Amino acid sequence: MDIQYVKGVGPKRARLLKKLNIHTIQDLLYYMPRSYEDRRRFKSIAQCVGGEKVSLKVKICGYPVKRKLRKNLSILQVPVKDSSGIGHLVWFNQDYIVSRLSLGDEIMVYGKVNIFNNQVQVMNPTIGRAEGDKVGKIIPIYPLTDNLSNNEMIRIMNNAIKGYSDNIKERLPEYILKELNLMPIKEAIINIHFPKSENHYKEARKRLAFEELFILQLGLMLIKSRQQEVYKGIQFPPVTEVYSFINDLPFKLTTAQLRVFKEVEKDMEKNIQMNRLIQGDVGSGKTIIAVLAMFKAWKSGYQSVMMAPTEILALQHFNSISNYFKDYDIRCELLVGSLSNKKKEEVLKDLKDGKIHVLIGTHAIIQDKVEFNRLGLAITDEQHRFGVKQRATLSYKGKSPDILVMTATPIPRTLALILYGDLDISIIDQLPPGRKQIETYAVGFDLIEQVHNFVKKQLLEGRQAYIVCPLIEESETLDLESAEALYNSLKDEVYRDFKVGLLHGRMKQEEKDRIMERFSKNELDILVSTTVIEVGINVPNANIMVVYNAERFGLAQLHQLRGRVGRGEYQSYCILINGSNSKIARERMRILQKSTDGFYISEKDLELRGPGEFFGTKQHGLPDLKIANLFTDMEILKLAQKKAMEVLEKDTYLLEDRHCNLRESIIQLFQDRIKDIILN
Ligand code: ADP
Ligand code: MG
Repeated sequence: MDIQYVKGVGPKRARLLKKLNIHTIQDLLYYMPRSYEDRRRFKSIAQCVGGEKVSLKVKICGYPVKRKLRKNLSILQVPVKDSSGIGHLVWFNQDYIVSRLSLGDEIMVYGKVNIFNNQVQVMNPTIGRAEGDKVGKIIPIYPLTDNLSNNEMIRIMNNAIKGYSDNIKERLPEYILKELNLMPIKEAIINIHFPKSENHYKEARKRLAFEELFILQLGLMLIKSRQQEVYKGIQFPPVTEVYSFINDLPFKLTTAQLRVFKEVEKDMEKNIQMNRLIQGDVGSGKTIIAVLAMFKAWKSGYQSVMMAPTEILALQHFNSISNYFKDYDIRCELLVGSLSNKKKEEVLKDLKDGKIHVLIGTHAIIQDKVEFNRLGLAITDEQHRFGVKQRATLSYKGKSPDILVMTATPIPRTLALILYGDLDISIIDQLPPGRKQIETYAVGFDLIEQVHNFVKKQLLEGRQAYIVCPLIEESETLDLESAEALYNSLKDEVYRDFKVGLLHGRMKQEEKDRIMERFSKNELDILVSTTVIEVGINVPNANIMVVYNAERFGLAQLHQLRGRVGRGEYQSYCILINGSNSKIARERMRILQKSTDGFYISEKDLELRGPGEFFGTKQHGLPDLKIANLFTDMEILKLAQKKAMEVLEKDTYLLEDRHCNLRESIIQLFQDRIKDIILN
């Protein structure tokens, strides 16, 4: 039912609530407090300390005093006492309160203590008359919007609970509640808003978080099993030539690469659509897996496409992939925004005519006018930058082409099951042999001169260096300014005897390409850059990565940056310049110094920053989580996954009566992807 039906909610408040995305009574009941204020512990006046918030039981022991301090500022002071001493309740600009108070009243108050002339003052306190009425209980604090106060929100919530808590649908089947000893929904909703005790709160939260993760996980698993069933895919034939292609490679595949390719090959040969994620640390050699799959597609008469998140990366893939295919009759083309119109048209036409076998590009590839002749394989690189939707769009370019997703941000399996819940997962858990460990150092700005001297020494030996500029949050303009400032000072001062280039995201493509090309041809000694070099760039002669203000980056991101070096035969170095004294910043630097294992690092990153920041918001096209936190609720997530698997084993499409509410909740949650689920 619409939110308007709740007592105390008229059209005006309804509008405000809608701003908070609360449209129905159910939305309201599931609107979670941001935090709580514990007003249960009473103190005596004598125990009060300035600055803290307290609950007191006091008696009004004198007449109120009203005074005008300034034109628009009046003060009301009411003397109170308890057995320990006397104090004052103080309100500003709320003179009307005086009418509610009489001498001798015994009341409860909650407010912030101020010590004034050695006397206790409680500032703008909330008044409670009975035990548990505003004072003496745990009070929810809600995320709010202008013109809607927390007190109003509490009143509305109270009314909603009084009026409708009997109608809240129990989404979880009885037997699961019993098995896991979970709180029934009505009790959970009441206690998440107005917890009777800390324990009640914990139980309520656990139940709601479980419900949320369970339904999300069930939905994702259903989508996956449905996809395999509904989308009949291309059945690629066995292609033995792939193995002679592998034999001709300049290196021997690692065991992990071979295993993962075989998983891909097996998927491709099935008549259902492949939806596979390849996780592998920086440098583990994911590209070659894509190349082999493309080779197989080409031999079978199909086109392949590969989408990369940046033009630089697309170009680099284009170069290396064309090189792998140079002895074959495989035509590769690049499609990026900055191509000339003439070239673009040529590519589009030849693509449609089937004359191009392998297309590599950026987002430009998913535009409407890009048409394939016979798309058989769609690959996205560094998936964490693309959303689920973009992936889907890419796949609609063909008739259920096989999908391969590659990511260098390894995440724990439990999380992968949520974030990539609709994909099968392969892991390349081994680096090619002979890689030298990258030495990682974290230093403060006080050692910057030594750092520069060290870099110069390496440059004189013929090596090259990356210097990454501080990340300025959420402001491309500032990012650019800081990059340019750093570039200018390095170029004109510290490194004036060297050739220094600048690379940033706002440059025109040709400029970027030119700079990258000069750097990879060793015509530049130093590349000063923003994080555009974060993914994929490969220049083996570069052996030093210096990161300014490393504390501003995520660990996974720093690990990626570090992965730009250590790609050749030279000992490589990563120097993190930490501009912060905080303990957590030092702890994070230590993690990078200690470990080169991407899985471990991303797990720590999650732990220290939380998943929101880690993954970038909403990039995954997953429904928002209202209650659960993917990292801190890892145990609940595991439980939810285990249960979801059990349930689907017994009832593959949730058709049993006892699962009907679950099925409905899933449909509600995944609305826009309902087509994929087709539960009914
Ligand atoms: P990433 O997994 O980070 O995308 P790449 O596919 O770019 O890694 O591979 C990194 C480098 O390792 C490339 O230069 C590639 O040629 C090389 N490489 C890949 N596989 C092997 C291997 N089995 N043995 C030696 N070098 C390899
Ligand atoms: Mg790569």
